[in-house]
Amino acid sequence: MAVNLSREEMESFWMPFTANTTFKADPRLLTHADGMHYTTHDDRQILDGTAGLWCCNAGHNRSKITEAVTKQLSTLDFAPTFQMGHPIGFELANRLTEISPKGLDSVFFTNSGSESVETALKIARAYWRIKGKPGKAKLVGRIKGYHGVNFGGISVGGLVMNRKHFGQTLDVDHLPHTLLEKNRFSKGLPDYGTELADNLEDLVGLHDAENIAAVIVEPISGSAGVILPPKGYLKRLRELCDKHDILLIFDEVITGYGRVGAAFAADEFDVTPDLITTAKGLTNGVIPMGAVFVRKDINEAFLAAGNGAIELFHGYTYSAHPVACAAAIATLDVYKEDDLFARAKSLHHYFEDAVHSLKGHKNVIDIRNYGLVGAVELQPREGKPGARAYEVFKKVYETGALVRQTGDIIAISPPLIIEKEQIDRIINLLGDAINAVD
Ligand code: PMP
Repeated sequence: MAVNLSREEMESFWMPFTANTTFKADPRLLTHADGMHYTTHDDRQILDGTAGLWCCNAGHNRSKITEAVTKQLSTLDFAPTFQMGHPIGFELANRLTEISPKGLDSVFFTNSGSESVETALKIARAYWRIKGKPGKAKLVGRIKGYHGVNFGGISVGGLVMNRKHFGQTLDVDHLPHTLLEKNRFSKGLPDYGTELADNLEDLVGLHDAENIAAVIVEPISGSAGVILPPKGYLKRLRELCDKHDILLIFDEVITGYGRVGAAFAADEFDVTPDLITTAKGLTNGVIPMGAVFVRKDINEAFLAAGNGAIELFHGYTYSAHPVACAAAIATLDVYKEDDLFARAKSLHHYFEDAVHSLKGHKNVIDIRNYGLVGAVELQPREGKPGARAYEVFKKVYETGALVRQTGDIIAISPPLIIEKEQIDRIINLLGDAINAVD
């Protein structure tokens, strides 16, 4: 049934990362979701080419998850985890260590990707204090990195628009991004740019390793437009962090839980960081939740230093919320039963060929892909960055699919249940839209 909201009815909700005035003049509302589809307010079925916001990896309305959440609500709706506990929190942590990279066996629960990032950065700094090295406090991020919207995250993040409005941030440094012109239209991991990791040596030269706590990177940057690590880049970063005793944090809020064809990008690229931040796909997007995976011996250092007292003065009222735990456990069950991470891997080449078939379309200046994430970059309109891609995004929405526009990039990251014909349909709609927009 069609749903219409008046301007007045939409006034109070200050929408995030949205041009509110423009949006409310011509809104796009989603009213239902099932499987690979959303229903729009004007009663159309559109394909979900973005897994919601990179989070509904198992598709929508999975009965197993819905039932688990419903059951949990009448079993234990809420219980604190500060000096109290509940079985389902421990159960979920144990389940997660079954799929986490080797050695990352300690799990700290949060409610979002942003909170996971803050948690990881704080653990990194606190860890060096415990080790008697309080000088190791500087955090290093990367240009174009996205690590959520809290102060730590926008500091290490490298997107100017996300930080410039908010005044003083943390004193951090940034590595260069890995988006190189000579890698344009690379399939999978690009060949050039491995040496960009060596910029960490320059920062060590500048600040001294004794003052650097951690480096945080997204193995594949999502929000900045699907930026891939050149072959060997992440390994090189790992080697340099080892050499200088700097913690390596992978922000896998987007790449975690199957998106790249393995549980984590760390597995897929065979590089194990010291901490991993996650959220989104952890609960299939159904209930907000995040989890930080921490190397076991880092956790043990805190336990030893705590000597029976509180070890980490950090946590959230809703850390390991029981209803979120139920959603996450059911989500992990669905991933396993449907073998969805392997499914993403098996679709890698099909998806790759489909996305790259848009090469040669007007204004397309780059195409990038890995697993079930892809991006098509458009030539920006003179003086109007993002305008062309925004029109393409709107046209695709009007003709039958949801894709994500960020700057001049259209990103595609469908649920891992997607069928080949549905990949074709999204790419066709995107190709038609690109052709139709000047
Ligand atoms: N880190 C990365 C890599 C992300 O992509 C995101 C969200 N897109 C975040 C952190 C922040 O997550 P949230 O919006 O859940 O706070």
